[in-house]
Amino acid sequence: MSESSCIFCQIIDGAIPADIYYQDDDILAFRDIHPVAPTHLLIIPKKHIATANDFSDEDERLIGKLMTTASKLARELRVDRSGYRMVMNCNRDAGQTVFHVHLHLLAGRAFSWPPG
Ligand code: 5GP
Ligand code: ZN
Repeated sequence: MSESSCIFCQIIDGAIPADIYYQDDDILAFRDIHPVAPTHLLIIPKKHIATANDFSDEDERLIGKLMTTASKLARELRVDRSGYRMVMNCNRDAGQTVFHVHLHLLAGRAFSWPPG
């Protein structure tokens, strides 16, 4: 399941350290190494899925859990009222750099729209 060349699989396996905020059997949430907002967490499935193009019907619950967990963590971090952004980049035009699906949870400042 885990891919040895994948940096996020290595974080899941404990081979690379990370500032882990939450984990359970399915998912891991940790702080982004180059935060672009006061709160910047990455929420990832423990199953290696490279991009949103690789979602399958069997992943439906797992992918949904990324969002419900982001929502819970936002409440826990008390950014739910002020607001937050959930972002998942897919491939080149979106700027995806790590090819293990991750949901960014960004909060603590105002974000512009449309994105750059
Ligand atoms: P993407 O551009 O693929 O949507 O986002 C990848 C994110 O992963 C970037 O925000 C980047 O800072 C973060 N990142 C890359 N390598 C590491 C790492 O080794 N540890 C952590 N905590 N974050 C990383
Ligand atoms: Zn991976």
